[in-house]
Amino acid sequence: MTRFTLLCQLNGGCMGCCGRDFISKEKIKEAIRENTEEFKAANPLVKAQLMKFRDRAHPHDLRYGVCRNLIELEGKIFCPLHPSLHQRVDLRTNHCDIDFMCRTAVTFETWVAEKQKRFIDFIAGKKIDNLDFSLGIDKGTLLDEFEAFLQSNGNTELLM
Ligand code: SF4
Repeated sequence: MTRFTLLCQLNGGCMGCCGRDFISKEKIKEAIRENTEEFKAANPLVKAQLMKFRDRAHPHDLRYGVCRNLIELEGKIFCPLHPSLHQRVDLRTNHCDIDFMCRTAVTFETWVAEKQKRFIDFIAGKKIDNLDFSLGIDKGTLLDEFEAFLQSNGNTELLM
């Protein structure tokens, strides 16, 4: 069973673990643009075609640090192999680490509902796009900022 948290779908969707050693936001956008062009050219409609698209490159052969399967359609950045698109069948299996959870997600899962809600509100208040959100979640900077925010506002009962 794939591990998953609410954070993974927040703020337009998180792509923080769809790659590593990201170079810059601009390079992430460029990688997604090139991936999307390849996806549109391949036009994979059924499972075998999606697997062929997936396997056009080795899992470690990233594009500017970004997974080659990450695409953008109709303004949404997503993985076309994700189980939410295939009746829970996970086409990422044996390709990426589907059980990975970032430090922010692991920590978030340990919080009480009140603290989770406060974090979600904190993120919404920042009005950041989904790339800045993803990078902040992946690096843990949003988590650290939130804990500092709680501290400075005297919400020590919510600190762990
Ligand atoms: S970086 Fe964290 S929150 Fe984002 S998709 Fe990965 S596990 Fe989920």
